[in-house]
Amino acid sequence: MSSDCLFCRIVRREIPATIVREDEHTLAFRDIDPKAPTHVLVIPKTHVASLADAPDASTLGRVLLAAAQIAKDEGIETSGYRTVINTGADAGQTVHHVHVHLLGGRHLKWPPG
Ligand code: 5GP
Ligand code: ZN
Repeated sequence: MSSDCLFCRIVRREIPATIVREDEHTLAFRDIDPKAPTHVLVIPKTHVASLADAPDASTLGRVLLAAAQIAKDEGIETSGYRTVINTGADAGQTVHHVHVHLLGGRHLKWPPG
């Protein structure tokens, strides 16, 4: 845990968030500035700054599998969805606690900007 990390503070319930799923290792909540009808952020509960710092396969795997389950729960599994991990400045990572964006509910252009 990192005391001043925004997403660690959401894990500790120090900052409110609309939580859609939680298990022992992961937390998922709606993005505060959604870019699609479904825009959920899925994070490991332990502090990991970015994909470049991912400690092990299970941490990443659990986050991705949670995203797939949420897509089912949100009813976008058939229509399709995108999972995105921004890493570093060029990708526009603004919160330095690794997170998967789950986006869906509308057609998503490719490639991203
Ligand atoms: P990044 O740009 O690092 O890939 O994504 C960070 C995401 O976190 C952005 O989509 C942003 O809207 C979202 N975000 C930033 N602050 C908060 C917050 O306090 N609560 C929630 N739910 N999302 C946030
Ligand atoms: Zn953190």
